[in-house]
Amino acid sequence: MRLLPIILWVAVAIVLLLPLLRRVLAASPRPRRSLPDELVKDPVCQTYVVKSRAIRRGEADQVRYFCSEECARLDAGR
Ligand SMILES: [Zn+2]
Repeated sequence: MRLLPIILWVAVAIVLLLPLLRRVLAASPRPRRSLPDELVKDPVCQTYVVKSRAIRRGEADQVRYFCSEECARLDAGR
């Protein structure tokens, strides 16, 4: 029988590659970042700004976000 060693090698290869393959498959659908940065609208120039980078004005219940200090100033002057 010449086929037996080949089958044996294939079996060994599968056994060795399976955990690797499973790891690759498990890693590929990466979980999304749980908190994508929220977008807020600048009421002065109507631009959407990333919340963490926006200029914040007002009290907790009436917070407004601006793209720049200039817009914040324009809003305060209204
Ligand atoms: Zn603005």
